[in-house]
Amino acid sequence: MKNAIISFPCPANEPVKTYLEGSPERIALDEELERQYNTVVEIPLIIGGKEIFTGNIKEVVCPHEHGHVLARYHQAGEKEIKMAIDAAMTAHKQWAETDWTVRAAIVLKCAELLSTKYRPIMNAATMLGQSKNIFQAEIDSACETIDFFRYNVHYASKLYAIQPKDGKGFIDSTEYRPLEGFVLAVTPFNFTSIASNLNMTPVLLGNTTVWKPSGTAVLSNYYMMKMFEEAGVPAGVVNFVPSKGSEIGRICCASKDLAGIHFTGSTATFQTLWKSVGENIAHYVSYPRLVGETGGKDYIFVHPSAVADEIAWAAFSGAYEFQGQKCSAASRIYVPKSMWPAVLEKMKKFASEISMGDVRDPQNYINAVIDETSWDNIDSYLKYAEAADDAKIVMGGGRDKSVGYFVEPTVIETSNPHFKTMEEEIFGPVLTVYPYDDDKVWEAVHDLDTTSPYGLTGSVFGRDRLEVQKIADALCYTAGNFYINDRPTGAVVGMQPFGGSRASGTNDKAGGEFNLIRWVLPRCIKETLVTPTDYHYSYMKK
Ligand code: NAD
Repeated sequence: MKNAIISFPCPANEPVKTYLEGSPERIALDEELERQYNTVVEIPLIIGGKEIFTGNIKEVVCPHEHGHVLARYHQAGEKEIKMAIDAAMTAHKQWAETDWTVRAAIVLKCAELLSTKYRPIMNAATMLGQSKNIFQAEIDSACETIDFFRYNVHYASKLYAIQPKDGKGFIDSTEYRPLEGFVLAVTPFNFTSIASNLNMTPVLLGNTTVWKPSGTAVLSNYYMMKMFEEAGVPAGVVNFVPSKGSEIGRICCASKDLAGIHFTGSTATFQTLWKSVGENIAHYVSYPRLVGETGGKDYIFVHPSAVADEIAWAAFSGAYEFQGQKCSAASRIYVPKSMWPAVLEKMKKFASEISMGDVRDPQNYINAVIDETSWDNIDSYLKYAEAADDAKIVMGGGRDKSVGYFVEPTVIETSNPHFKTMEEEIFGPVLTVYPYDDDKVWEAVHDLDTTSPYGLTGSVFGRDRLEVQKIADALCYTAGNFYINDRPTGAVVGMQPFGGSRASGTNDKAGGEFNLIRWVLPRCIKETLVTPTDYHYSYMKK
């Protein structure tokens, strides 16, 4: 019998550990790095709680040492993808009917496991497999993931508590049913936390998922799946299906039971999925919910009243941490011409101080970009800039893929506010600057607003707070996460719920309460206490 009314108050954010040399967390992490570096894991599919080995094998390598294999994973084909849909549908009824506080307990157990036993495991896998340094891994695969678990439980308790008012003689209530069908969770390489969250938010609300992890994040995502199982997520509630993106997308979108897609990745992939849903729209049991957070061309706008040193910090750390592979990474900057030389000089000083290399050496501020496709893509943009008349590379530009996929922190300076790298997402450590005439602030603001199709993150710097406010107002639709006198990255769960609009996504705000609403189907119930027996209204009587 479960009839307690349990409250889940707003949690505190998981503290970021220091990893100072000799600290317990550093010792545990170093041991785990050593273990994972010297192990080749065989990763199966996990469907309906069962491990499946297809023999169609792909490798997981260290991006910073691509000759080193960390894991071999089995890829699903059509048969296994359909099995995963069936498993999710089979598990749906029991999971939907499970008391939500039991589901919450399982999610909170995930948070506790990750905060303790699994912390070094997830951090080491994210470092080695996705080339994140200690700090980048800790804020992603540990802290942000834990925060998603704990905050979502709190938000779910608030959501379920939203109830209509009663009238005289009847009781009203709203039941928050999970969606009718399965949710396809398609997850990106760049955040282990997002891979977890795209599954566990719908799951907390009673849904079941078919999970397509990114091929370059399979190692950390597999350990995450093992942790879900250990926490008590029942068989079939999350189905782990590494597979070819186009194949799983096609098969799931053709299923009548597709109830939603929870996606993070590039704009092009999300648009492909959306089109596929459109083509199948007449066949579904219900209209699938499409939630996607996608690409960005995130900006820093510098007002002439700003301070050069602050801009150098924001641009350098905002553009280059995790090699610029955060969806929120600064990738274009508008600076008054008179201030730009001082900003660039400071950025060059920073660049001369840092080193680039293996994630196991904590001195390396910069590690590798994720894979060869990404390296080649960045290389093509740099070649384009090298050959252009209206742009030049003024910092960095070096790159080498012989051992790992390395690209130096780079600045492209352009005289053309519509230069290709001012408009398109590169997803690497490349920042393009457009130095504007100091007396043409509003032309530059207009250029910013109309240059790129994206609307994810942006920031404005200036000591003149009134001017800054006018600029913030003018840039109203350019960013779903907007910063004043701060870099445009580093959103924290519960504090800056994340997501953008325009070509950047549906802005359903991961890490905030709005996202949860997308994964429930409210059913409103009116219960009449004494049912009438006569159809006459009083005015009809003589
Ligand atoms: P991606 O689009 O290449 O891949 C994302 C996922 O989609 C992967 O699992 C991939 O295998 C899968 N996929 C590819 N083609 C598919 C298809 N046709 N059908 C179904 N699935 C398919 O993106 P990525 O390289 O993993 O991640 C980088 C991108 O993600 C960048 O554009 C970045 O801006 C974006 N991103 C956005 C946010 C955000 O919150 N807005 C957060 C993180 C990353």
